[in-house]
Amino acid sequence: MDCIFCKIAEGKIPSKKVYEDDYVLAFYDIAPQAPVHILIIPKKHFSTILEIEQSDRELIGHIFLIANKIAKDMGVNERGFRIVVNCNRDGGQTVFHLHFHLLAGRTMHWPPG
Ligand code: 5GP
Ligand code: ZN
Repeated sequence: MDCIFCKIAEGKIPSKKVYEDDYVLAFYDIAPQAPVHILIIPKKHFSTILEIEQSDRELIGHIFLIANKIAKDMGVNERGFRIVVNCNRDGGQTVFHLHFHLLAGRTMHWPPG
């Protein structure tokens, strides 16, 4: 399977890593949309959030704990941040390996564009 984020997770494509464990990798987005723009991915391939199953609950919960840790480590926890998951065409998804955007360092707007 030709998946760019699987290749990043396997270290075949370089990335600027923020966090890594057996299940999750976090790295800086190549085209940042905020002063802090990190992508948190499961190492397991899911094309979209729609592929998550009951057996993945622990993994997905783990991703949110890592987001929590990264926000604190980067010192953006008090001012705040946004976590975004885009899904399919209307969601604006461009990379079909599940990823969580962690955006911070500026005021986010609502409604989102
Ligand atoms: P999506 O639009 O699918 O929610 O987000 C995909 C994100 O992946 C975009 O923000 C894009 O800038 C980022 N991205 C795409 N290719 C690469 C890459 O090779 N390396 C990194 N670090 N980010 C990438
Ligand atoms: Zn993948």
